[in-house]
Amino acid sequence: MAYTITLIPGDGVGPEVIEAARRVVEATGIEIQWELQETGEKALRTSGSPIPDEVLENIRKNKVALKGPITTPVGTGFRSVNVAIRKALDLYVNLRPARSFPGVKSFFPNLDLVIVRENTEDLYAGIEFEQASQEMRRLREFMENEKIKVSEDAACSFKLMTWKGSIRAARFAFEYAVRHKRKKVTVVHKANIMKATDGLFLRAAKTAAEDFPEVEFEDRIVDNMCMQLVQKPELYDVLLLPNLYGDIVSDLCAGLVGGLGLAPSANLGERAAVFEPVHGSAPRYAGQNKVNPMAAILSACLMLRHLGEVTRAEQIESAISQVLGEGKMVTYDVKSTSEESLVVGTKEVADEIIARMKELSRKPY
Ligand code: NAD
Repeated sequence: MAYTITLIPGDGVGPEVIEAARRVVEATGIEIQWELQETGEKALRTSGSPIPDEVLENIRKNKVALKGPITTPVGTGFRSVNVAIRKALDLYVNLRPARSFPGVKSFFPNLDLVIVRENTEDLYAGIEFEQASQEMRRLREFMENEKIKVSEDAACSFKLMTWKGSIRAARFAFEYAVRHKRKKVTVVHKANIMKATDGLFLRAAKTAAEDFPEVEFEDRIVDNMCMQLVQKPELYDVLLLPNLYGDIVSDLCAGLVGGLGLAPSANLGERAAVFEPVHGSAPRYAGQNKVNPMAAILSACLMLRHLGEVTRAEQIESAISQVLGEGKMVTYDVKSTSEESLVVGTKEVADEIIARMKELSRKPY
C-alpha cells in the first residue's frame, strides 16, 4: 500500500533529523509520497506566517505528518507553532514513550515508561494577557469587584481545563494500557492546590479508571512524582498528566533513559496524527551534522505503527537497538565508554541504522 504523508522539516536541527528519519523509513521498502510543508521561521520569511493555512490543510488531507522541531521565540515574537498545530487539528493526546536502550548510559537500564500528556488545554494553551493589555485592565476591574486586588504590574496566564479534554486523555491512557498489556496508570496532578483545574483532571482520571478495573490506578502529586521518578522510576508504567506537567516530566523521563536524542512522540487526535521528536530545534547545533537522529527515527516508528506497519517499525527499532548496543557508531550524546566507540554525525548514524536493517533482513528467522 502506498501512503501520502506530510513532511515538515522544521527549524534548527529539524531538517537534518527529519531527512535521516525519511531515509530510514524508505529503507524499509515502504512506498511513501512525502508532501513537503514549511513552517516556523522559513515560512514566516516566505509567506508572512509561521503556520500557513496550507500546512494545516495538508495535514488534514493526509491525516498523518512527520514533523521536525520548530523554534518558538522566548518571551516575545510569534506564538508556538506546535501549540497552534495541536489545537487546530485537535491532537488531544501526546504519547511519549521513555525506554532504556542497551549500551546507553543510564542509572535505570530496564526502564519502560509511557507518558500520556493532555495536549490542547492547561496553561500550555498560551492564553495570556500582557501587563498593559485591555484584557488585563478588564480582568483587574472584574477582580476588584470580587474584592481581589490585582496590581498594575501583573500579567496573567489562564489555566483552562475542561471535562471533555480531561476525560478523553484519561480514557486514552487506560485504553493504551489495555492494548499494550500495561499494568498501571498513574495520574499526576497538583489538585491539593489547584482544586478546580487539576481537581477536575483527577476526577476525570478516577471516572475513566472505573471502566478499566483490570488496570491498577493511583495518583501522585507532581512534585512528589518528580522525586519518585528520579529515585525509583521502575515503580511506574503509564503516566497520565495535564499538558504543562506532561511537557516537563517527559523531558525528565527522557533524561532517565539517555537524553532527548532518544525520545520520540506522537500527537494523536480523531482525525489526524503528527509524529515528532520530543526535543526542540537545538539552534546552536543546526547545520553541523551533529545531533542524534534517533528521536526523530523512533517517532517515525510510532508513525509506522499508527499506519499498521508494525513489522517495518520493529525492523527499524531492532537496528537502532543494535547500533546503540554496540556503541561504535553513535552521536556524541550517547557515546559509550568502549574504546572502539566512534562519535559520528546525524547522517552517519542513519547510514549505520540502514546498514543494520539490511543485515537483519538477510538473517533467516
Ligand atoms: P532543545 O531540545 O532544542 O535542546 C536542548 C539541548 O538538548 C540541546 O542543547 C542539546 O544539548 C540536547 N539535544 C536536543 N536534541 C538533541 C538531539 N537530537 N541529539 C542530541 N542532543 C540533543 O531545547 P531548547 O534549547 O530549550 O529549545 C530550542 C528551541 O526549540 C526553542 O525555540 C523551543 O521553543 C523549541 N522547541 C520546539 C519543540 C517542538 O517543535 N516540538 C519542542 C521543544 C522545544
